[in-house]
Amino acid sequence: MTKKKVYLDYASTTPLDPRVFSAMKPYFSQKFGNPMSLHSFGKEAKEAVEKSRKIAGDFFGCDSGEIIFTSGATESNNFAIKGVALASRSGRKTKPHIITTQFEHSCVLEASKKLEERGMADVSYVPVSKEGIVSAADVLKEIRNNTILVSVMYVNNEIGTIQPIKEIGKLVGTVNAARERKNLPKILFHTDAVQAVNYLDCNVQNLGIDLLTASGHKIYGPKGIGCLYIRKNTPILSIQDGGSHEFGFRAGTLNVPGIVGFGTALEIAEKERKRNYKIVEKMRDYLIARILKEIQGVKLNGSKIKRVPNNTNLTVKDVEGEGMLLELDMKGIAVSTGSACSAGDLRPSHVLTAIGISEEESHGSLRVTLGKFTTKQEIDYFFNSFKEAIARLRKIAGK
Ligand SMILES: *Cc1c(COP(=O)(O)O)cnc(C)c1O
Repeated sequence: MTKKKVYLDYASTTPLDPRVFSAMKPYFSQKFGNPMSLHSFGKEAKEAVEKSRKIAGDFFGCDSGEIIFTSGATESNNFAIKGVALASRSGRKTKPHIITTQFEHSCVLEASKKLEERGMADVSYVPVSKEGIVSAADVLKEIRNNTILVSVMYVNNEIGTIQPIKEIGKLVGTVNAARERKNLPKILFHTDAVQAVNYLDCNVQNLGIDLLTASGHKIYGPKGIGCLYIRKNTPILSIQDGGSHEFGFRAGTLNVPGIVGFGTALEIAEKERKRNYKIVEKMRDYLIARILKEIQGVKLNGSKIKRVPNNTNLTVKDVEGEGMLLELDMKGIAVSTGSACSAGDLRPSHVLTAIGISEEESHGSLRVTLGKFTTKQEIDYFFNSFKEAIARLRKIAGK
C-alpha cells in the first residue's frame, strides 16, 4: 500500500500550480537569455520579465516601475527596513526610529534588532491583543519626531489574524500631513503581505502603503522569488550593490524563470481569489467546528473572525506539539508547530507569547493551514488521525 500523503502546511509553502510550472519551463531551456543583454535572447527574457512586472503592478494597483523583484520575502523585508534606515541615516545626525510589532515574521524582527544592535536605529515593538490584532491607536502612540517607518504585517503567518492595515495607513497619512507643516520626516508605511496575497485586497492605494512585501512560494509559485513594492520617490537605498538591475535598487542577474512563475502565480491568484476563498473557508470552518465539538481541551488561537480563511491554530491541553506533529507525520500528514522557521527551536512561539498564551500552553500548539488543493476527504482523514493522536498521547502522559 502506498502511503497516503496529506499536506496541511500551506502557510509554510505551497505546491507549485501546474500552470505556473508550464509557464516557467521554457525559461530554463530555450529561452535562457539574460534580460540585460541587447541581443534577441536578452530581449526575449526581458519581455517576459516586464510582462510579470506589469502583472504585479496591476495586482498591487501601482506602476510596474514601482515593483522590484527580489529573492523572496525575507530579502524584501530586510530591504524595506534596512534600506529605509540607511537612506534616513545618510546626511543626518539623529538616529531614526522604527515602529513594528511583537509578532512579525522573524525576518522583520531580526532585521530590526540588527539595526538596533548596530546603532543604526531605535525600534519600538507594539504589543498585540489577545485576539492577535494590533491596534492602530497603539501604533500611533509610539510615533516620535524621528520616526521614519511603521512596519506591520498584513496577516500573521502563525495564527492567520488580519491586521487593520487600511486604518493604520490612514492614520499614518493624517500624521504625515501634520508633520509636513512642521518639517518633520515623512513616516513610511511598510507591510509584509505574504500571507494576504491569496485572499485579501492588496491594492497599495486603497491601503495607503509605501512599501509592500510578497513572496512567490506562498501563492503556488516558485521559491526564491518575491517582490518589494516601493512607492515612487520613497527615500530608500539599495542593500545589494553591483550592476544597474532593477532600476538600481537591487543588483544581480534576474531570476527569469522565477519571475515568470511569480507573475503567473499572481495572475491566477487574482482570477481565482473569490473561488479559493470560499472553498478553503468552508473546509476550515467545518474542521474547526468538528474539533471544538468532538475533542476535549482544544482551543482556537487568535480571532475567529478577523482571520484568513485557510488558517487554524490550536492549543491542545496535556499534549506536546512536537508529539502530535510526529504522530501525524507517521500517517503522512504534514502540519506544523509554531512557524517552520522556528521549528526545532524549543522556545515557545513569539507569536503565541505575544497574544498572552502561557509557555506551558503554547507547547501544545499546532498550526493546520489549508490551500486550494485541499479536499474534504483530506480534512476528514486529518480529523480522525488528530483525534486518535491526542487520545494516544494523553494516555501515554497519564492524562
Ligand atoms: C514565509 C514568510 C516570509 C518569508 O518568505 P520567504 O519568501 O520564504 O523569504 C516572510 N513573512 C511572512 C509573513 C511569511 O509567511
